[in-house]
Amino acid sequence: MRLSQSLIPTLKETPAEAQIASHRLMLRAGLVRQMASGIYAWLPAGLRVLNKISQIVREEQDAAGAQEVLMPTIQSADLWRESGRYDAYGKEMLRITDRHDRELLYGPTNEEMITAIMRDTTKSYRDLPRNLYHIQWKFRDEVRPRFGVLRGREFLMKDAYSFDLDYEGALIAYKKMMLAYMRTFQRIGITAIPMRADTGQIGGDLSHEFHVLAPTGESGVFYDAAFEAGDSLTATDVEAFYEQMTTMYAATDEKHDLDAWAKIPDERKREGRGIEVGQIFYFGKKYSESMNFAVTGPDGSKIFPEMGSYGIGVSRLVGAIIEARHDEAGIIWPDAIAPFRAAILNLRQGDAVTDQICNDLHEKLGADCLYDDREERAGAKFADADLMGHPWQIIVGPRGAANGVVELKRRATGERFELSVADALAKVLA
Ligand code: ATP
Ligand code: MG
Repeated sequence: MRLSQSLIPTLKETPAEAQIASHRLMLRAGLVRQMASGIYAWLPAGLRVLNKISQIVREEQDAAGAQEVLMPTIQSADLWRESGRYDAYGKEMLRITDRHDRELLYGPTNEEMITAIMRDTTKSYRDLPRNLYHIQWKFRDEVRPRFGVLRGREFLMKDAYSFDLDYEGALIAYKKMMLAYMRTFQRIGITAIPMRADTGQIGGDLSHEFHVLAPTGESGVFYDAAFEAGDSLTATDVEAFYEQMTTMYAATDEKHDLDAWAKIPDERKREGRGIEVGQIFYFGKKYSESMNFAVTGPDGSKIFPEMGSYGIGVSRLVGAIIEARHDEAGIIWPDAIAPFRAAILNLRQGDAVTDQICNDLHEKLGADCLYDDREERAGAKFADADLMGHPWQIIVGPRGAANGVVELKRRATGERFELSVADALAKVLA
């Protein structure tokens, strides 16, 4: 993509409304624009990040055996009356009346809807287990939307729902999702720690939240330093992995257990703040019973399925990743989800040799690179590339270009390499 032809409106000034780094940087790097309180438009570079995260989430859900569906954003109020949550949900639910005076709502979550779909389609014990997910916009009329996409009102969530015949099956579904989540975060390139958590509005008795550590996080968190080692995914089978994850101590302040905490050696105790990027719940028959969804068992008896639900805040993740990975100059994207893998900085636009090398690199790197071909000073190009946080910068200046040499900069470490065009290309693509 050529920067001169793209809608990537970077800002030099710090926007006054943004209180924390990720919000400031998302606006300054031209990723999003606020359209109303807690409601954002995603511009080309921001959308590329959102799509890359969604794709990793999708691949790991598929690998765990969940099937993708797409449920609507608008739901009928009657569905929520069945579960009893229509009144319970309160003011966070955006309620809508259509032209025929029918009551609708913009979905804050989908337990009721997926249960209705299963009830309509699934009659026999032979048709379970099932796990269904979608990646869809949600709306919650938060009292205080803030910190940009971290606490928006409209936000993108991956939500999965599992249906099993018995508790043992439901527990396996829960464990598989925990493993899928840890793989997802690892592939994205961030550390998220699973913590024992309260179940809140969704209900139920077993739940974990996944927290990205950042000083600006809204939750106080307590955890064993073993989680920092980054080797938390050594176990390969689900049972061993779950055992490993849940025997190490990690809890949000709401679930903090002082007795268990006291048993951890002092040098391994860590306290900090976390941003909740996902949560998984086991809640048994809460919705299958209240909404009368049963399958016929082998002996003709009625079985109300055991359920769980599993959310990842896809749009919140974008902010959380930046919160965890930035410096004074800008964003430091992990490779897997950067809007562009590399930027090409042409330091002398219009010079035959630099233009030639840049065009050639642009062609070879394809859509996943941003070519800064603007008529701008070198300093402005450096600043914008650091701000946007591309993992690699290929800097093409007239002196090096004359000898077929370019400079390659790694954003995360600041390392610089003088390389031939071919070697630079190979390193970026490696
Ligand atoms: P929070 O405690 O932060 O309000 P929640 O526990 O109500 O979130 P869940 O119902 O667990 O949220 O939703 C699943 C995921 O959706 C959360 O882990 C979070 O990543 C994301 N999410 C929830 N609310 C918002 C929001 N207002 N803006 C952005 N993402 C959100
Ligand atoms: Mg939650």
